[in-house]
Amino acid sequence: MQLPTQLFINGAWRDAASGRRAILVNPATEEAFAEVAAADNADVNAAVESAHQAWESGWRDLAPGKRTEILFNVARVLWENLERIAQLETLHIGKPIGDARDEAGLGARVFEYYAGAITKFCGQTIPVSRGGFDFTLREPMGVVACIVPWNFPFPIACWKAAPALAAGNCVVLKPASLSPLTALALGELAHAAGLPPGVLQVLPGSGSAIGDALVTHPLVRKISFTGSTEIGRRIMELASRDLKRISLELGGKSPNIVFADADWQRAAETSPMSVFANTGQDCCARSRIFMERSIYEPFVSKFVESTRKLLVGDPTQPETQLGPMVSAGQRATVEEFLADARKQGSKFACGGGRPGNKGYYLDATVLLDVGKEDRCWREEIFGPVVAITPFDDEAQMIREVNASPYGLSASLWTNDLRRAFRVSRAVQSGVLSVNSHSSVHVEAPFGGFKTSGIGRDLGMAAMEGYTELKNVYIAE
Ligand code: NAP
Ligand code: MG
Repeated sequence: MQLPTQLFINGAWRDAASGRRAILVNPATEEAFAEVAAADNADVNAAVESAHQAWESGWRDLAPGKRTEILFNVARVLWENLERIAQLETLHIGKPIGDARDEAGLGARVFEYYAGAITKFCGQTIPVSRGGFDFTLREPMGVVACIVPWNFPFPIACWKAAPALAAGNCVVLKPASLSPLTALALGELAHAAGLPPGVLQVLPGSGSAIGDALVTHPLVRKISFTGSTEIGRRIMELASRDLKRISLELGGKSPNIVFADADWQRAAETSPMSVFANTGQDCCARSRIFMERSIYEPFVSKFVESTRKLLVGDPTQPETQLGPMVSAGQRATVEEFLADARKQGSKFACGGGRPGNKGYYLDATVLLDVGKEDRCWREEIFGPVVAITPFDDEAQMIREVNASPYGLSASLWTNDLRRAFRVSRAVQSGVLSVNSHSSVHVEAPFGGFKTSGIGRDLGMAAMEGYTELKNVYIAE
């Protein structure tokens, strides 16, 4: 398979100005398999300037119908190349191929949604009291920097780039160093589908080397970021100097709340994948389970039984459910959490070690008796680790749920409708699902409360976030 290994600027491949390249390692085999160009500040300038040029010279003012046609074409070309995208995703981050195929399809559906949204994204006419004619416009901002992580590289790149482009902006997309391939494929395929040169640039390179230059570039008007709370804070600080627009989708410590009146057996069977899918490297991972005490023991035993049945292995095989972690470093970070859990005397109901000795694999791990002050309870682990705790009182449980500084996702299992409404209202999180673990719907807003972020991806909310709102008044 031909790998995309250069920068994609102004519709063409080029090496980094410095000639620097970074090595990619397959996390399932620990083997180096490619070198990809690593941008530096000169390349940031070239990419941003070319995006700005493309914006001013056509994309900004293109008729909505034409932009719709191009983005539908992008979606079609992504569908046609779904298998290639999926194979690249599995190769660089070890994502199980079945999930990689689903996520490649999700990226294509996002382009379809925003292609259709262009001609349905309306302003208002407002009956202002002094008479005359008053209406609002949603105007594009200019160059948007989209900085994306390695856990869902392709779909997140799509769900940032598609609404930004649909709203009439041009994009500089910076993939994570561990996962540049599918972002580069997106740039190439989008241009093959008719996106004019310069409208979407893809800039692989180390965030610590080029992040500041990209975020502070005077022609970048908005930064849309998904990643760690630490880097999100840094971006917000830098963006504040010029009051740049930001949207940040950061970490989580999401609760999974199960009441005794629920179909708790189904909850116990499905909940393992709500935290262990993507080997736990998911900002929505339901990593804290709150169980009503009367069903705590049978739930734990069924949950552990379901966890043991998960198929861990070669991510290129369609039956594999859990692949390796993305890197040796990410696994080491998670193992530090496990060491802390041991030190604090938590009980390991299963897991805690490494299966096999090749690839960055880690066992799906179920912790019991985790103290509410312990790191494993309070901090985002970003690996295949869950803590289960019993509760007696609904109000006290909700206080513990909301004690987290995070507020991204939550699940709630109950068959009591009034309780479902009450608890849904009380939990502080940006997305919540009842009797389900879904967090992401192309058509609905996705993002967090508190330190989980600012602004929303997906749905029409994301389109709003890539525009400025202008009010025009015409006197009679
Ligand atoms: P990260 O550093 O926040 O990386 C996310 C993206 O930001 C990557 O593209 C990264 O590029 C880039 N970046 C890094 N430093 C930057 C800077 N100074 N300015 C601008 N962009 C910068 O996350 P990580 O280090 O990969 O993972 C650390 C932890 O973050 C994880 O353990 C997890 O807790 C959390 N995380 C959360 C999510 C999420 O979905 N919310 C995703 C990934 C990680 P490079 O790859 O080149 O550094
Ligand atoms: Mg980092």
